[in-house]
Amino acid sequence: MITKPKGTLDFLPEDAFKRLHVEEKLRKIAAVFNYREIRTPAFEKTELFRRGIGEETDIVSKEMYSFNDNEFTLKPEMTAPVIRSYIENSLYNISPVQKLYYISNMYRHERPQAGRYREFSQFGAEIIGSGEYTADIELIALGMFFLKEFGIKNLKIKINNIGNLTERSAFLKDLKLYLNDYTQKLSSESARRLFTNPLRILDSKDQKDIEIVKNAPVLYDYLGEENKNHFQNVLGGLKSLDIDYEIDHNLVRGLDYYTSTTFEILSENLGAQNAVLGGGRYDMLVQQLGGKPTPAIGFACGLERLTLVLQANNYIFPEPKSPDLYLITSGEKAKNKALVLAYNLRMKNVYCELDLLGRSIKSQMKEANKLNARYVVVIGEDELSKNSAKIKKMADGSEVETALNDIVNYNFN
Ligand code: AMP
Repeated sequence: MITKPKGTLDFLPEDAFKRLHVEEKLRKIAAVFNYREIRTPAFEKTELFRRGIGEETDIVSKEMYSFNDNEFTLKPEMTAPVIRSYIENSLYNISPVQKLYYISNMYRHERPQAGRYREFSQFGAEIIGSGEYTADIELIALGMFFLKEFGIKNLKIKINNIGNLTERSAFLKDLKLYLNDYTQKLSSESARRLFTNPLRILDSKDQKDIEIVKNAPVLYDYLGEENKNHFQNVLGGLKSLDIDYEIDHNLVRGLDYYTSTTFEILSENLGAQNAVLGGGRYDMLVQQLGGKPTPAIGFACGLERLTLVLQANNYIFPEPKSPDLYLITSGEKAKNKALVLAYNLRMKNVYCELDLLGRSIKSQMKEANKLNARYVVVIGEDELSKNSAKIKKMADGSEVETALNDIVNYNFN
C-alpha cells in the first residue's frame, strides 16, 4: 500500500466540507474589512525566499522543499510571494494602499507533530503601503475579529516592537556581549544561534535559555522615539477596541523580514504549538525585494491549527445538505426513465440521487433513508404504464400523485 507522505493530510469529504465552511467564512470577513484575494504560484524562485525570509532562519536553512537544482522552492510562506507579485505587477499604481488576503497551501520540511505539518494552509492578510499605526490596529483587529466570529474563547494576544534595523543592531551588539558570558550554559541550538541569528535566542523555549534571557538587555530600551510612539499608539488603539493584549518583549518571530510591531494570537487549547496566528510589520521587505521603500504589515493563521481550536471550542459545523429527492426504480425501463429525470432535475438545481448499483427496491429505500432524502419517488412497471408516480414527503409520509413528466416541475422546497 502506498501511503501519503509524512506530515501531510488527506481531507476526506467530511473534513473538506468543514474546511470549505471555514474558508467561506474567512472570505466573507475579509470582504467586510475590504481585503481582496491574491493567488500566487505554488512554487517560486528559491532566491525570493532566501532574500525575503533570510538565510539564517529555520525555514530557509533547513525547511524548504527545493527542486531543479535548487532553482525553485515550494512556498513555505506567502508574504514574500505576495510582495514579489506586488512589485512585479506594480500594484502600487492601482492604489497606494493594497489590502490583500490569501488562503493557500504552504510547505515546510519540519518535524511533524500535532498542529505542525509539512503541508499546511494559511489564511493571511497584508496591508501594503501604510506605515500608520492605524494599519497595525486594523490588521490585528481583523485577526481577532475572525477568531471571535468563530466563537473561539481563551485567546491571548502577545505583542512587541522589535525596532528598525539600526535600533536592532545596537541591541544585538549588547545582547551578544551579554550572552557571550553564557555560551557554555545556553542550549546547543541557542549557542549556535549566537553566531547565526541571536535574536531568536530570545524566544527559545528551553528552560535554561529562558533563565539566561531574563537578565538580558531589553530590546524595547533600544527603540527610538518614533517606534516607541508607534508601539504606544498601537496599544492605545487595541484598548479602544477592547482587545486585551500582553506585551512580550521577547516576541521576535522566526522570519528576518519583521521590523517594528510583531504579534501572535495564542490559544489555550493548543499544546506546544499554541500560536494560531502570527504576524508583524515588515517595512523593509518591499525594498529588499527590489521595490520602492514601502511599509507593510501582515499576519498568517494556520487553518489546521484553527480547526484544532474550533474542535476544542466545540464549534458546531453546518451539516452537509441531504438530497431533495431520491429516485427509486424497479426494472430496466424505469432505471432509464429515472436517469433522464434525474438529469433534468439536476439541471433545475434539485439535489437528486439515484441508485447506481442495481439494488432492490428495499435497499434503495434504505439508502434514501440513510441519505436523509426529503422526498422519494418510486418508479416501476406500474408507474410507467400509468405514466405517473407518487412524490412522497419523508417527514410526514404524505404523497402527491404527479405525471412522470411533471416531476421535474415539482417544488421540492
Ligand atoms: P509563520 O508563517 O511561521 O509566522 O506561522 C504563522 C502561522 O501558520 C502559525 O501561527 C501557525 O498557525 C501556522 N503554521 C506555521 N507553520 C506550520 C506548520 N508546520 N503546520 C501547521 N501550521 C503552521
